[in-house]
Amino acid sequence: MTDLEKFRAETRAWLADKCPEEMRDGDITAENQCWGGRQWEFQSEAQKLWFERALDKGYTVPTWPKEYGGAGLSVEEGKILDEERLAINARKPLSNFGISMLGPALLAYGTHEQKDQHLNAIANGEIRWCQGYSEPGAGSDLASLKTKCEDMGDHWLINGQKIWTSNADISDWIFCLVRTDFDAPKHRGITFILMDMASEGISVKPIVLISGHSPFCETFFDNVKVPKIYGEGNPSVVGEINRGWDVAKALLVHERGMLGTMSPLRGTSGPESLGRHAVEHIGTDQDGRLADPALRQRIAQAELDNWAYNLTVERLTDEANAGNGLGAKSSMLKYAASELTKRGTELRMDVGGTDAASIGEEGIEYGSLANAWLYNRAYSILGGTTEVQLNIISKRVLELPSA
Ligand SMILES: Cc1cc2nc3c(=O)[nH]c(=O)nc-3n(C[C@H](O)[C@H](O)[C@H](O)COP(=O)(O)OP(=O)(O)OC[C@H]3O[C@@H](n4cnc5c(N)ncnc54)[C@H](O)[C@@H]3O)c2cc1C
Repeated sequence: MTDLEKFRAETRAWLADKCPEEMRDGDITAENQCWGGRQWEFQSEAQKLWFERALDKGYTVPTWPKEYGGAGLSVEEGKILDEERLAINARKPLSNFGISMLGPALLAYGTHEQKDQHLNAIANGEIRWCQGYSEPGAGSDLASLKTKCEDMGDHWLINGQKIWTSNADISDWIFCLVRTDFDAPKHRGITFILMDMASEGISVKPIVLISGHSPFCETFFDNVKVPKIYGEGNPSVVGEINRGWDVAKALLVHERGMLGTMSPLRGTSGPESLGRHAVEHIGTDQDGRLADPALRQRIAQAELDNWAYNLTVERLTDEANAGNGLGAKSSMLKYAASELTKRGTELRMDVGGTDAASIGEEGIEYGSLANAWLYNRAYSILGGTTEVQLNIISKRVLELPSA
């Protein structure tokens, strides 16, 4: 038995022993996942137990170094842990922007002290982070951002506004892009800075959607004083001043990679089971096939595309693990996952018919299929729109000439 086979057997046994049954429902909605942070309250004993057991083992962030709260697993071991977890349909014990976005950026660009403070707090589920990138005039063209950061000697002074800041109202800290040089070319005057959301001068205003829910906020900075150094050797700025665009881009690669691989298509609720679901709702013809031929063809196409997507995820993950990183190819995953996820829920709505579209007295019920169908449209906007991903793929993956 090779070391990796031994690791797989041990991991399978550990998961079988330690992952509570209630956490094996594959449920990965924003509502059900464990986010952590100062305001976090566990939703069940099982969720708490699963988090604590994983934390003990370093499995909230399995591939991070042990000194920063991880288990120090190799990339191959991390992949095995993921495969075995998915095989029993288990939830991740902890998921948040600290793990999927800031952590990888800090591992690449942070000082030892920044990693020591922030990565451990993320791994332990103590601090929840939000992302302060977009502004009213800077979305797809993010480098146009104008939030002003002035050097005041012993501190930075920040004024400006962010928008669409997911969960800013319940986050503890924010990683933020600010402008430190207004005269330099736009990509060269941006700095990546970390702020405590409790700082004086930061205020947030939830944006209430038509559904009544508020997944994101406007975030205002009004003469916010940010210390240059939080503790010895622990600057608030990550990377070099005016070179924050490099950190921002690296983080976006992780964000898009995460969005591209967390798609519901990869769980049991995706089109893998769509055919069976359709047969249950619509019934079969005399040959035992789905009774509606047009729908049958659309479902078959969706299932084929889903297979191709899953294989592409495998291939790109292996390529990334072989040392080249994902780079611009993360845009391929993000694009495919967004579009296939939207199509998957559209098909489910078609299968469900008028029942699926039903609206209760309180409006569209949260967690319902209709809700997912409407919400999933956001996937082709958040983390960079579908059009922007197609631009990146054509320029940086396919290397097509500019028009
Ligand atoms: C649910 C959700 C959560 C979000 N969470 C966060 C968050 O936590 N933090 C954060 O900072 N931001 C967040 N965002 C914001 C998100 O990153 C932006 O909405 C996104 O980058 C698009 O920017 P925009 O909304 O300003 O649209 P715009 O950039 O104004 O784009 C409008 C339209 O023009 C198209 N377009 C723009 N430029 C081009 C081009 N060059 N070529 C072709 N088409 C183009 C776009 O594709 C789009 O269809 C979130 C958004 C959503 C929907």
